[in-house]
Amino acid sequence: MADVTAPALREYPVAPALLPDAMAGSKPYTANEKMQEALGFPGSLVDDWHDKAIGKMGELLGKHRSLRVYLDSCVHCGACSDKCHYFLGTGDPKNMPVARQDLLRSVYRRHFTLPGKLFPKLVGARELTREVLDDWYKYYNQCSECRRCSVFCPYGIDTAEVTMAAREILDTVGYGAKYTNEIIGKVHRIGNNLGLPAPALADTLLGLEEDVKEETGADVKFPLDQKGAEVLLVTPSADFFAEPHVDSLIGYAKVFHAAGISWTLSSHASEAANFGLFIGSYEQMRAVALRIREAALELGVKRIVVGECGHAWRVAYSYWNTLAGIGSGGDDPFARQLQGQLDHNYRQPMHICELTWDLVQKGALVLDKEANDHRVVTFHDSCNVARASRMGDDPGGQFEIPRALIRAVANRYVEMREGTTHEATFCCGGGGGLLTDEILDLRVKGALPRMESLREVADRHGVNFMATICAICKAQFTKVLPYYGFNRAMVGGIHQLVSTAIRLGAKQ
Ligand code: SF4
Ligand code: SF4
Repeated sequence: MADVTAPALREYPVAPALLPDAMAGSKPYTANEKMQEALGFPGSLVDDWHDKAIGKMGELLGKHRSLRVYLDSCVHCGACSDKCHYFLGTGDPKNMPVARQDLLRSVYRRHFTLPGKLFPKLVGARELTREVLDDWYKYYNQCSECRRCSVFCPYGIDTAEVTMAAREILDTVGYGAKYTNEIIGKVHRIGNNLGLPAPALADTLLGLEEDVKEETGADVKFPLDQKGAEVLLVTPSADFFAEPHVDSLIGYAKVFHAAGISWTLSSHASEAANFGLFIGSYEQMRAVALRIREAALELGVKRIVVGECGHAWRVAYSYWNTLAGIGSGGDDPFARQLQGQLDHNYRQPMHICELTWDLVQKGALVLDKEANDHRVVTFHDSCNVARASRMGDDPGGQFEIPRALIRAVANRYVEMREGTTHEATFCCGGGGGLLTDEILDLRVKGALPRMESLREVADRHGVNFMATICAICKAQFTKVLPYYGFNRAMVGGIHQLVSTAIRLGAKQ
């Protein structure tokens, strides 16, 4: 691909030289009329886009107090400016988080603050012109909503929230992105991001049962729509056949089999991903989440477990309670019915890593760590797990449980450089609804900081496997690793490692 350029890896990463407008040509395809209207948005840019955009901004400011606080409180200290992987990879100053926020903030000041109305030039207030609107589309689609910048902001300003607001305004005026909006439409119509219908899913799962039988001799099942199962597993649809995702699905199935837990997938809710988050739409997020509640009620399950998917876990952990009454929260009759049905001896929802780690601690699984001895493993913390959720009962569980699980199934583990892991982890470069090939150049450049720390542990410690618990990270890394001289097969899920180590059959 001639128009994709990977920056050179450096031993001592520093902030790049400024390259104004370097990424001004980068933007995802816009959604067509059909995709927009399927979500209730105008099919194309409306004639009165200016007034409608300002009106929507006012509505969001009224609804989300946090947005107004974020837009009011930045002091332009610059602490965030070199924290964004897209700025580090591209040098485009509009990819500095503060500059990204200012694209919206300047219009906010013009229309919603007195100084901005009286002395716009003095306070950096700007009118919303077509050029500004186009900049919104370009640069709010160069933010993966990873929230790394907010960790370093002394005021805790969350650029991801600003990006979500901007994308919501853009959708409202008929200027949405194809990748996210087409996918949300597929979930509404078919139940998953891939548009995989139930019979095809059933066939795929049957094929996996045959493969695992051949590999292990064990009758590991991949049940679909099984009423009365204890666990409903909601996992990203990429797990059904994409590589390396499917290896983790096989790992989950082996864990359920070994522990004797009855479980099922659902054809109605065959998707854990929830792109409603990416476009900042509460309504879309809720509609997607409700499919999971409907499936749980229909199947009568006692527990809801989420597979390896970063933003899905954020939505499940942080929003499912109020969106759908999964966990505590939600006060409509269906939410109350679900609360009565679920087994509250378990965390609801539960991450698959929590479930497997609990079983490991109880000694319920037979694990052969040596089976992973050909691997020197490192762990990439995924943004939405690291900075927007938790696992287990203790603070920091979202960092410790995945690592404890890796150490339980593999002997050789190495951490990447401090400052690039845990809450300071770098985005893979493809999150937040940007995993689309027309912006591959941005994705490759945005992966630079992670690739630099991976290069370091690969050279010093022989790391040859980077584990991660996010479907987007897996898809993004398998695509961009070769641009930096790595083998794409070196990325995989934690349950891929579990799958290699677990021994099925009677406990020895
Ligand atoms: S949220 Fe992430 S992608 Fe967006 S500006 Fe901040 S660091 Fe960059
Ligand atoms: S760190 Fe916070 S206050 Fe400082 S420039 Fe960035 S967003 Fe503004």
